[in-house]
Parts: sequence; C-alpha cells; structure tokens
Amino acid sequence: EEDQPAPDPSKKTLVVLGTGWGSVSLLKKLDTENYNVVVVSPRNYFLFTPLLPSCTVGTIEHRSIMEPIRNFLRHKKASVRYYEAEATKIDYDRRVVYINDESDIKGDVSATEVPFDMLVIGVGAENATFGIPGVREHGLFLKEVGDAQRIRNRIMDCCETATFKDQTPDEIQRLLHMVVVGGGPTGVEFAGELQDFFNSDLKKWIPDIREKFHVTLVEALPNVLPMFSKQLIEYTEKTFKEETISIRTKTMVKNVTEKYIEAESAGPDGKKQVEKIPYGLLVWATGNALRPLVSDFIKQIPAQKDSRRGLAVNEYLVVKGCENVWAVGDCAVANYAPTAQVASQEGAWLARMFNNMAKTNEIEAELSELSVKQEKAPSKDVRDAVFTDIKELQKRLRRVKQIGPFEYTHNGSLAYIGSEKAVADISWLSGNFASGGTLTYIFWKSAYINMCFSTRNRILVCIDWAKSKVFGRDVSRV
Ligand code: FAD
Ligand code: NAD
Repeated sequence: EEDQPAPDPSKKTLVVLGTGWGSVSLLKKLDTENYNVVVVSPRNYFLFTPLLPSCTVGTIEHRSIMEPIRNFLRHKKASVRYYEAEATKIDYDRRVVYINDESDIKGDVSATEVPFDMLVIGVGAENATFGIPGVREHGLFLKEVGDAQRIRNRIMDCCETATFKDQTPDEIQRLLHMVVVGGGPTGVEFAGELQDFFNSDLKKWIPDIREKFHVTLVEALPNVLPMFSKQLIEYTEKTFKEETISIRTKTMVKNVTEKYIEAESAGPDGKKQVEKIPYGLLVWATGNALRPLVSDFIKQIPAQKDSRRGLAVNEYLVVKGCENVWAVGDCAVANYAPTAQVASQEGAWLARMFNNMAKTNEIEAELSELSVKQEKAPSKDVRDAVFTDIKELQKRLRRVKQIGPFEYTHNGSLAYIGSEKAVADISWLSGNFASGGTLTYIFWKSAYINMCFSTRNRILVCIDWAKSKVFGRDVSRV
C-alpha cells in the first residue's frame, strides 16, 4: 500500500468536523478528488443511533451498529485524512480549527491546528440537563456507545445488588425502580427495550425480582412522543400500561440525588407538589444542548447573536454571517427537527453542492481557455468550431449551476415501543399514514435494516436479533 499523498496545493482544503449522520453522509457522496479533504472527530467510527436503545439491554451488540471510519474512507477515490481528535475551537478570522488528541495515549504532539479553506461543522449536540443539579453525577445518558454499555451494566448491577443476601425491602424496591426522564423517542424506546428485557429474560434468570422490577417514564409535558400523531400517542400510552410501564406526565424533574429524584407535579388539589422518587437506575433523555465548540463559534459571529439552539444556517446550509462555512445535523438550525433523517439529507445535499461547485470551476476554467483560443483562432472555421464548443460548455455550466436550495423530505417518524410493537407516522404520496402494532414492528425492523450503514452491519444486526431471540440476552456484567 502506498503512503498517503501530500495535500495538493492547487486544491482547496475542505475540513469536515464529526463522523456522525451529517458528516458521514456528506463524505459518502462527496467526490473527494476535488478537494484536500480532512476529517476531524474524536470518534473513529460512524454510529447507527436508531438501534442504540437496543444495545442497552443486549438485543443488539454495539459493534454491530458501528462502522470504522477508516474502513469507509479507504474506499474513497482520492485519499482523505482523518485525525482522531476533538475540535476545541474554530478561529474564523484565521481560518483554522484547533484540535486536541483526547485519547488515553498521547504523543509528543497532542494539540495543534488545522487550516481550512472550506469548513463543514457536523459535531452534533450534547445532552441537555437544563442545569438541573445532580443529573451529570447520578444519571446516565443515551447518546453514545459508552452510554449504552454503562446502562447495561447498571441494570445488572441493580438486579444483583437487590438480590444481595439480607437486602432490606425498601432498598430492594429502590434498586429495582428504573426511572427514565424524558418522554421523547429516546426515552420511550429505551423504556420499551428495558421492559422487554425484563419480560423475556430477566425475570427468568432472576425470579426473585419478578414482582419488584418496575419501569417509570417521567415527562414534563402532558403526553409522550409529542412529534407523533394523537392516535399513536394514545396507542403508545396504552401499550405501556399493558406492559406495566408507568408513565408520569406533567411531571418535571427538578433535582437529582444519588438515590432519588425530586419531581414537581400538580397534586390532587391542583397545587404544585414535589415528591421524592427513589431509583436504582436513572436514564436521562431530555434532548439536545449546544456543544461548547458551537457556542464559542456563535459568539465569534455577530450574525449569530440570536442563535440559541444551534448555528443558524441559510437554505444553502451556509452558517449565517460566514463565508465558506457550512453546518449540518443537530448543531445546525434550519427549522427541522434534530434527527438522523434530516442530518443525512443535509449531508448528501451538501456533497452534491460541493461536487457541482468543483465541476463549475472546471467548466469555467475550460471556458476561459476556449475564449483565448477563439480570439487567437487563425481562421473563421476554427473560430466557429470553438464557438460551438463554448456554447456547449455554457449549456453544461447552466445545468450544473442549477442546484436549488436544500429542501427536506420527511419520510416519516418511526419508534419502537416494546413488546414487539412499533409506531409509525409515514408520509406517502397520498397523505399521512399512522400505524401501530406488530406489523409496524416488522416494518420498523426492515426499515432499520435497510438504513444500516453497510452490508456487514446489516448481517450483524440480523444475527444479533436471531441470537437474542433463541438464546435470550446476555446478562453478564462486565
Ligand atoms: P451525530 O450523529 O451525533 O455526530 C456528531 C459527530 O461529531 C460524532 O462523530 C462526534 O464524535 C463528533 N464530535 C463531537 N464533538 C466534536 C468536536 N468537538 N470536534 C469534532 N467532532 C466532534 N434520528 C432519527 O431520525 N431516527 C431515529 O430512529 C433516531 N434514533 C435515535 C436514537 C438515539 C438513542 C439517539 C441518541 C438519537 C436518535 N436519533 C434518531 C437522532 C439522531 O441520532 C441525530 O439527530 C443525529 O445523530 C444527528 O446527526 P449529527 O451528524 O448532527 O450528529
Ligand atoms: P426530545 O427533545 O425529543 O424529548 C425530550 C423530552 O424530555 C421532552 O418531551 C421534554 O418535555 C422532556 N423533558 C425535558 N426536561 C424535563 C424534565 N426536567 N423532567 C421531565 N421531562 C423533561 O429528546 P430525545 O428523545 O432525546 O430526542 C432527540 C432528537 O432525536 C429528537 O429530534 C428526536 O426526534 C430524535 N430521535 C428520534 C428517534 C426516532 O425517530 N425513533 C429516536 C430517538 C431520537
């Protein structure tokens, strides 16, 4: 194998931050021959987040939904540089990104800078805690592979500690109370997976906890899954009830301690009351917040002074107030929900735009060459021939330049709700279609298998599903 070639000085340097849904779908479609492409991300793999809730209970093993970024990049036509690092600051004036090696092993150099001509920010978002005390110390998030592993271990730790010899009844009850805060799709899917785990495996392995294991979902708003249609919200709530998952809506968590949460809700008299809810496992899924890199960048750009939820971008995904800086996915605000579906469409659109930009430059260079040739043409015949070529190229240029602004196509919302049921709001050509149940679950499964990153991932996920069905999930704690 050859060494990676040095950057080509005649090409612009395109720096891409992140290896998530937005950045990777950009890289997938990008013709890398046109630019010196540099990718910076602390995570050297792409993660298929829709199946992450299944990893928390071992229905799927996490490696089945990870795709090494190096494996993916080596198949690109022109080589792409990848640095496993966190971008710590974007200096817009100097057009550089500061990067830090945050891994365990550091060399002589672990912090440096990467200059860019063009920059795509696809760093995603952090977990929102709204400054509620104790969340970071005691709660577990569900965003990355490490989070899913921590949850899986904590579930088993709670079960084993609850069955410790001579454990007190109150403590058993606390340890086996699994609390999920946030009734968005992350919280709902996790609660469903956890109850599945209990129903099909845990209670067989540990009969002692059969009567005491309990899952509660806490949501501040009047209902869960606000982005789904009313009918599906009701279906989800009914299914949870049958599965004995408690839903506590209109309940806002205000404080978290090591052993209980404090939640505010309206009491029977309509007055606000605060109650202490003991828990063994606390999963915190209350949505997104800005990453420090993004909030720092917002401060540098006057046009971004009103940006709260992310970088404001225009319909071409250009970060407002900047030149040659684009943002995709959860860190960008373009009036769409922060979903994988949006991020991947944005990434793919941007790739098309960059490919077109390169083609445009190429055609324009060719055109200026031809016009010189036309001027210097020795005869009318030659001049006419060149003129025809110019006309042809101008037509091509118009076609290439014809790329419209980014428009999102909503294919629908899908969520797994446990006990082999799923809910789906699908937009068909003829209108909207809402469904819930086992058939939808089969649809959910096939849709997600289709969306997996690679054939390798698809096969691994199918094997995991079959494995957990036949042998049960693995309850060993590591
Ligand atoms: P991400 O995919 O989060 O990627 C961000 C990348 O940036 C990562 O590689 C990260 O390591 C990197 N990064 C972070 N900080 C830095 C830095 N300082 N410098 C450089 N790189 C950095 N959406 C759906 O549409 N359907 C679903 O079913 C669905 N299920 C979900 C389930 C779960 C459990 C979760 C958490 C989310 C789910 N989502 C789903 C939402 C979806 O995952 C996000 O909207 C999507 O990941 C956003 O893509 P992104 O590229 O903006 O960010
Ligand atoms: P979310 O923002 O969708 O939901 C968070 C919920 O937490 C909200 O309903 C909010 O009212 C509640 N909340 C906030 N603070 C609270 C508090 N103190 N106490 C109680 N409840 C509180 O977050 P998410 O579920 O993590 O989803 C994030 C994004 O990822 C969304 O855009 C979502 O659509 C997407 N996603 C999609 C899927 C899917 O399509 N299957 C799955 C997971 C995530």
